[in-house]
Amino acid sequence: MELSELRQKPHLSASSIGTYVDCSLQYWFAYVKRLPMEFVSDALEFGSAIHLTLADFYRAKMTGDRLLLKDVHESYRQHWTNRVKDRSDIKYADQKDFQSYLIEGVDLLTAWFNKLADDHFNVIAVEEAFVFEIDGMPLPIVGAIDLVEEDDSGTIIITDHKTTGRAYSIDEIDQNPQITIYQMAAKANGFADREILLKFDCLVKTKTPKFEQYYTTRTETDELRLIRKIQTVWNGINSKVFIPNDTSWKCKTCPYKKACDEWFLQQGGEE
Ligand code: SF4
Repeated sequence: MELSELRQKPHLSASSIGTYVDCSLQYWFAYVKRLPMEFVSDALEFGSAIHLTLADFYRAKMTGDRLLLKDVHESYRQHWTNRVKDRSDIKYADQKDFQSYLIEGVDLLTAWFNKLADDHFNVIAVEEAFVFEIDGMPLPIVGAIDLVEEDDSGTIIITDHKTTGRAYSIDEIDQNPQITIYQMAAKANGFADREILLKFDCLVKTKTPKFEQYYTTRTETDELRLIRKIQTVWNGINSKVFIPNDTSWKCKTCPYKKACDEWFLQQGGEE
């Protein structure tokens, strides 16, 4: 089933769980009230255009083709243009605009392409939608895994593509909950008897663009810890506990800032 179809029914996702943990009031605006975002961040759209480009590359790899760098660049230019050209709701950071991102995307993908290992992994799925249940949870977990591959020994390699502003730390790699969810999804959807390796392919938007690849694994204890956390997130949502985390660094780029300011003025109001 397509991710868009899975999203039609009540569910949680890595993104909604992360939003609740970071600022549950933002979760309330986004997922309960479903307020339109006050703006769309340039970084979000840029990351989506890069994601779509990498998906094109791996779909070609799945059929035995290897796209050339010029094809990758063309794919990116099309995705970026289709996503943002003539839109007025995109909020660009200082010194950024449509054209600057055209150049930045090409440079970033060049860094990725030139450092990409010729791994001979067999591509099993690209942007693979999933759904799975957690004991005691009334809602399923829904999402999509960027890339699922298999090596010669039958080990499954799950890759999450990240477009980031800086390199990841080891702690961020080893504790990232999103990729733990992907492992749980893979096990629930036919790969429970396989070795699973997890990988972040990070396209780093530093002044000189970089590509960093990080492998990691998750134990059963990691999964159990996350399940406990997700169950607690659900208890909070179900009990209508939505607390602003207004000292978060996320406030600066929050797409619900006006709604949040108004919420603070509604003394004794909703929620
Ligand atoms: S502005 Fe800050 S506190 Fe308010 S909803 Fe956004 S992230 Fe939460």
